[in-house]
Amino acid sequence: MKEELKKEIRDLASRGAPVGIATILVGEDFGARMYRKQVERFCEEMGVAYTDANPPADTSEAEVVKKVQELNADKKVSGILPLRPFPEHISDYAIINSIDLNKDIDCFHPYNMGKLTLGEITFPPATPAACIEILDREGVELEGAEVVVVGHSNIVGKPISILCLNRNATVTTTHIFTSMAGNLEKHTTGADILIVAAGKAGLITPKHIKEGAFVVDVGINRVKVLDEQGNPVLNEKGKPKTRTVGDVAFDEVKEKAGKITPVPGGVGAITNMMLMRNAVKAARIQNGLM
Ligand code: NAP
Repeated sequence: MKEELKKEIRDLASRGAPVGIATILVGEDFGARMYRKQVERFCEEMGVAYTDANPPADTSEAEVVKKVQELNADKKVSGILPLRPFPEHISDYAIINSIDLNKDIDCFHPYNMGKLTLGEITFPPATPAACIEILDREGVELEGAEVVVVGHSNIVGKPISILCLNRNATVTTTHIFTSMAGNLEKHTTGADILIVAAGKAGLITPKHIKEGAFVVDVGINRVKVLDEQGNPVLNEKGKPKTRTVGDVAFDEVKEKAGKITPVPGGVGAITNMMLMRNAVKAARIQNGLM
């Protein structure tokens, strides 16, 4: 996919339709800065111009909206990615609603989300699209399949549920209240395809899985590395060592699942590619090359 996209990016540049991504981060949130670094590195790797809009945390909402409007008008920027959380005095929707519909490469704008629901998708949101891409490339049939999604966030759980529904899967969306009612396992054990996006390390164990199910783990969690006695292992600075894991207890679940995506190296890696694919499509739309 990377090579295909690189070729398309070079081709579009030679036709005067450059692909470019801008992130907009207000302030210095740690997680958002990490994500920004990742986007910047990926742009560099793919030969795509990267623009960093990073007004300070005390910037007014109106000024941030103005910044978005400047990016909307910038021909070098084909896609805009707002990095949340924004400071409390800035409403997510004020920023998202000001993004040009044809530059909304992670499908945040309510208009694009509405089109997604109707199955008329311009830009499929990157992480849900990555889940579908993995299933498609593994030859998994969605039509008629029992899909269970864990998590109902606007960014992952809801749109992935809609994408699967659009492909004629039978979809059950579960969330914290499903767990609190003690019903999570009842639903997940019926899944041919289980997509987990809760942000809770170790949430899904073998008892939640139907034998042979396809498990897609979206979660990204940092956990302490423990020794055999369960004590934290320290690094050379005397701080607890950490590692990245998903929401699924991978080592145990892989014995029961038919297939399972790892964390890291699974959905996250494909998500970058989906974002870039949308930025390429955006450049085509903006230059009348569809
Ligand atoms: P989020 O906004 O925190 O949403 C988590 C969802 O899981 C919520 O719907 C929450 O329900 C539900 N949930 C929490 N605990 C649960 C439990 N014990 N049982 C059932 N449902 C539970 O997070 P998000 O943005 O959707 O992201 C989810 C995970 O995916 C995070 O780990 C995030 O880092 C990761 N992620 C990965 C990628 C990637 O590219 N791989 C991209 C985006 C996010 P309530 O809202 O009712 O509490």
